[in-house]
Amino acid sequence: MDFFTLLSVEEAQARLLAAVRRRMPAERVATAAATGRVTAVPVLAAEDLPPFDRSSVDGYAVRSADTFGASEALPSYLTVTAEIAMGAAPTVPLNPGEAQKIATGGALPEGADAVIMVEHTEQSAPDEIAALRPVSPGENVMHRGEDCRAGEELLPAGRLLRAQEVALLSHAGILEVDVVRRPRVAIISTGDELVPADQVPAPGQIRESNGQALQALVRRDGGEPTFLGLARDDETQILALLQQGMAYDVILISGGSSVGTRDLTSELIGRLGSPGVLVHGVKLKPGKPTILAVADGVPVIGLPGHPVSAQVSYNLFVTPLLRQMQGLSPEPEFRPTVRARLTKNVASATGRTDVVRVRLFRRDGELWAEPVHGKSGLITTLVKADGLVVIPSAREGLLAGDTVEVEVLE
Ligand code: AMP
Ligand code: MG
Repeated sequence: MDFFTLLSVEEAQARLLAAVRRRMPAERVATAAATGRVTAVPVLAAEDLPPFDRSSVDGYAVRSADTFGASEALPSYLTVTAEIAMGAAPTVPLNPGEAQKIATGGALPEGADAVIMVEHTEQSAPDEIAALRPVSPGENVMHRGEDCRAGEELLPAGRLLRAQEVALLSHAGILEVDVVRRPRVAIISTGDELVPADQVPAPGQIRESNGQALQALVRRDGGEPTFLGLARDDETQILALLQQGMAYDVILISGGSSVGTRDLTSELIGRLGSPGVLVHGVKLKPGKPTILAVADGVPVIGLPGHPVSAQVSYNLFVTPLLRQMQGLSPEPEFRPTVRARLTKNVASATGRTDVVRVRLFRRDGELWAEPVHGKSGLITTLVKADGLVVIPSAREGLLAGDTVEVEVLE
């Protein structure tokens, strides 16, 4: 893996995304359980929302013309003929010179075209109010169909459903929604030294952790992870798990990035199907020994074994992949970042993308980013980090005091 034959992060991402054509099929789920899912088709409104003209304030339904020119000095006096009950249709039409008491969300009676806020009225007699200001036609009214009209698109295809989208669908009486099926992601960890987390490691062994981290990241990105297990650095075991993984939509295999085993992993991935390995090594630190492949339509991502490298590489290659497979743009148009000033210089080779872990802290009202040092095998460095700073390949490094965009780690 000669440095000069490695691909840049951008080229590697582009190769992978271009080779993956698979979109997940649609499935129908209950709206109540659809948060975090992505719409597969546009969702249309079956009815006008709101379904009737509603008041947006507590006050009196009126004919706006009756209030024209009203002031504190010269109020308009209106006879109160009814009080509109919430959740019921108004029964009494509103005639000129009249008002009806109405609460926020109440249905306007026939004949009313505005609502005057209770604060802008005075009780002038038991069944009479004084309007102290004019209201214009439509004032304080949410009109029928103002949220959306029957037949209109409520949500486009490819929309990630958050709490507010789920609320809108429920409000519109749409109890089930066609969403993209979650990509099923098989996860494999490899290494002679690894034992499952519930076992006591013998001397020379360590508990495996990438399997757990990757399951959490896949869930975060809308996928459905399955941990297939641990393979020793053994051709038969690795191949058996990889072949099991071919029943899934994506395979993630971590480890096997050290000199002795690197080519074995890549060779075994290559045997799974065509076109095979697309990228073997990326100009990325940490994360250089990343393998990107597609085997008969199934993307296979070989992540480095070092826990930090595995997560950095995951974020750069697997997150966009899972987004694309769910019908989202691979890169979001914007991400939550904060701007902070670097506490020290950070070197980076030209041509290489560097991902720097930083701890954020505030001093004298300013936000600072302190690079977290430590080898990429030290998992606590990621735990200490509040965010990541990406130094693009064209940059030679960053200087102390530079303002940088920090991607906040959720
Ligand atoms: P490798 O890529 O197999 O050469 O592994 C690089 C380093 O990451 C080694 O120190 C491994 O012990 C460690 N490593 C590999 N896989 C895992 C894993 N699943 N969990 C924790 N550490 C791992
Ligand atoms: Mg290994």
